[in-house]
Amino acid sequence: MTRYVFITGGVVSSLGKGIAAASLALLLQARGFSVRIKKLDPYLNVDPGTMSPTQHGEVFVTDDGAETDLDLGHYERFTGRPATRMDNITTGRIYKNIIDKERRGDYLGATVQVIPHVTNEIKSFVLDGHGETDFVLCEIGGTVGDIEAMPFVEAVRQLGNELPRRHAVYLHLTLMPWIPAAGELKTKPTQHSVKELQALGIHPDVLLVRADRPIPDAERKKLSLFCNVRHSAVVQALDVADIHDVPVAYHREGLDDEVLEAFGIDFAPRPSLDAWEAFRSRAASPQGAVKVAIVGKYTGLKDAYKSLTEALGHAAAANRISVEVDWVEAESLEDGDLSALKEVDAILVPGGFGERGSEGKIAAARHARENDVPYLGICFGMQMAVVEAARNLAGVADAGSSEFGRAGSPVVGLMTEWEKDGSRERRPQDGALGGTMRLGAYPANLEDGSLIARIYGTTRISERHRHRYEVNMAYRDKLESFGLKFSGTSPDGRLPETVELEGHPWFVGVQYHPELKSRPLEPHPLFVSFVAAAAGRH
Ligand code: GLN
Repeated sequence: MTRYVFITGGVVSSLGKGIAAASLALLLQARGFSVRIKKLDPYLNVDPGTMSPTQHGEVFVTDDGAETDLDLGHYERFTGRPATRMDNITTGRIYKNIIDKERRGDYLGATVQVIPHVTNEIKSFVLDGHGETDFVLCEIGGTVGDIEAMPFVEAVRQLGNELPRRHAVYLHLTLMPWIPAAGELKTKPTQHSVKELQALGIHPDVLLVRADRPIPDAERKKLSLFCNVRHSAVVQALDVADIHDVPVAYHREGLDDEVLEAFGIDFAPRPSLDAWEAFRSRAASPQGAVKVAIVGKYTGLKDAYKSLTEALGHAAAANRISVEVDWVEAESLEDGDLSALKEVDAILVPGGFGERGSEGKIAAARHARENDVPYLGICFGMQMAVVEAARNLAGVADAGSSEFGRAGSPVVGLMTEWEKDGSRERRPQDGALGGTMRLGAYPANLEDGSLIARIYGTTRISERHRHRYEVNMAYRDKLESFGLKFSGTSPDGRLPETVELEGHPWFVGVQYHPELKSRPLEPHPLFVSFVAAAAGRH
């Protein structure tokens, strides 16, 4: 029967609960267990799909088309296991389900309340849909004591009581701050946070304590005594240079042993971490460096492009090269000064929404096209490259995207219907924004002999999408006659999926998001090839 690890955070946010969960999952998997990770998000949005990337970071899209928290990206990258819509839920979704049920009359006249109705809904989300998985790790977003997180904390407390004995373990992640004037790491914030958790009926089995320097044993003993957590289960989590060092670091501190011990599992094979460590050592010993410009409009918050920078890191390690990212704010290119692009080895224009910055992205694509600089355009980055080629290569002077209002020549236009799993999906012109894009994994056919087919080594691929607009097939013949080839399409041939420029060393646009499927142990071929091209090795 499945065992559950409930992961809460205390003291401050941003302690890396997602990475801790992903690392523990990796360690348990490396010991031969099957593991799944779920994230409970306390905010009221139904999903993060409509939230600004500059506030919430990237929206991670799953194969089955859910728009989820970026932590799911870490889970996938660390475990290699694709996440699904059953792995992330928000307070908004919980309440939406409950209100729909109430309107249908499913509660048979009962007064609908936080306990038991909201907590039951949370519990069934936690318990459902994972069959025979050995461990489910369940991360609660936010910090213990947050008013929004209360129903989640209460639901996992109830589960501790309802699951068979030794089937629920509570892991609490906290911080010991260093106080320079005292020259000490302080235990008090952790004590308070554990007290808060205990007041809610949860007693942590394992404390994972972040600190910027080694925690003296006397302080661990103090935490053990005051927090009533056994000494060996106070696990120190020291800062590391790179998130990929976390699994091995936590293993050395005994995290996985302590979790298994808390379940009463005293024998489990040692984890085999060879492949992971090999990736780390490749990444840590680059033989050369390249500079890639990312031209975007959410460059103020790096989390907005999390999967992208991770994918470049995977490709860097695969090429044994280091990739330095130059963040270029798209709008800064709009006055015609492209000096920010002069020193870079390659240009990447990522996904994006809305008109602001689009002319800067178009200028970046033009610079790459005219100067033989390797260019990768992802989703919006492909659309803007096509607009650019239409205007400046094919002479369609008023080419634009209908995303910005009426375009003279709508080279990129609104998609209102497309094929999904053999049936047609339809969207009204003025429909709601949430969850209505073309989302999730779709197959595509690549043209035999094209650059992109050579990169993938196949002509049939499946990649994840998140877009409302598409390149307009009506302009295909014209653009192809000027060298911009539509090298990949949807299987029915109606939607352009990839473009490439003939005669250019490496110029590729993709309508999907390849970065979502790149992993340290399975770097994405497009990124591997792009980084190789940046290094002049293509
Ligand atoms: N805004 C564009 C669209 O909706 C591109 C989306 C994206 O880059 N993910 O089609």
